Amino acid sequence: MSDTPFQDPSTRTELSALGEFGLIERLAAHVQLLHPSSIKGIGDDAAVIDPSAGSEPQGVHQVVTTDMLVEGVHFDLAYMPLKHLGYKAIVVNLSDVYAMNAHARQVTVALALSNRFPVEAVDELYAGILLACEHYGVDLVGGDTCSSTSGLIISITAIGVAAPEDIVYRSGAMDNDLLVVSGDLGGAYMGLQILEREKLVFQETGAQPDLEGHDYIIERQLKPEARRDIVELLKKMAVKPTSMIDISDGLASEAMHLCRASGLGVRIYDDKLPIDPTTYRTARDFNLDPTTCALNGGEDYELLFTITQSDYDKVKGNPNLTVIGHMSDAASGYKLVDRQGGLHDLKAQGWDAFRAKG
Ligand code: ADP
Ligand code: MG
Repeated sequence: MSDTPFQDPSTRTELSALGEFGLIERLAAHVQLLHPSSIKGIGDDAAVIDPSAGSEPQGVHQVVTTDMLVEGVHFDLAYMPLKHLGYKAIVVNLSDVYAMNAHARQVTVALALSNRFPVEAVDELYAGILLACEHYGVDLVGGDTCSSTSGLIISITAIGVAAPEDIVYRSGAMDNDLLVVSGDLGGAYMGLQILEREKLVFQETGAQPDLEGHDYIIERQLKPEARRDIVELLKKMAVKPTSMIDISDGLASEAMHLCRASGLGVRIYDDKLPIDPTTYRTARDFNLDPTTCALNGGEDYELLFTITQSDYDKVKGNPNLTVIGHMSDAASGYKLVDRQGGLHDLKAQGWDAFRAKG
């Protein structure tokens, strides 16, 4: 572990040796455009996109979303390899596009780099960025590069398309709609706990990390995936969610966003929460309540959505989807139903607050 890779002067090329334009040229050399809608990519004052080009839906709308990752706030290079960071930076943005039930098409990448980072570090970061672009079939069409006095900042904008009637907002849920989540919850948070523990051990003893038996949750933290497959699955099953959001801050907080936007309350059933056995076991080892981790852990990048009761038969039994509760009237509030049927107020701690609490 070390918080900046490539410190050895013999394998390090200073950014100043290339300059901003040299660096952009070097990055651009690896970029290929896939979509007919990407009319002009890197190399002019702006990218040019024709949303209706190719086989896009008639009268498409575009969706646009931006997310920023700041060193020391959102990631720690002591345990986050730069290639994974690049991959994750794309994933967290695409996750927002999929949460609109849209198809991701283009991204732009803005970087602020301190001189702590050599050219080789930027190459690693871009290897991850381009791998994610390839995996999700999106074009890198531009960005910005500047210097920073403190660490690394990555700001990504993602652009997607959808037929207007396919777009799903947070505000469309109705009373009694079922609340559904993809995948499982709490894993990314428990992965972070393992990584932070091993970082402390390394700082105190110099011992290399022992990550044995925690592969799944570490991968959830370091190499999350955005659920494009769920958007496709829903389409295939002819289920259009009434509302949808992606889980970046934690289930409780995201469920409450759906409630507020839709003017409703919610009931979530503790015994329905999908928690992977590795997450469960690790939470227990850390003396944490697995339910709390699933509710407030964050960074799972799963999709949380509501469907009408009449669609229940279509999602029932699908291993990727779990019905975890239902919407209620606003006066009923935001509730967690425990295994005995007792009601508890849901709290949106978000993962940062949760983290501070330890
Ligand atoms: P301008 O000064 O007009 O903004 P720049 O020199 O910043 O132009 O950028 C030149 C081209 O390189 C533009 O197409 C821009 O989108 C692209 N670009 C700049 N930085 C990056 C980056 N980090 N990743 C991808 N493309 C970039
Ligand atoms: Mg610029």
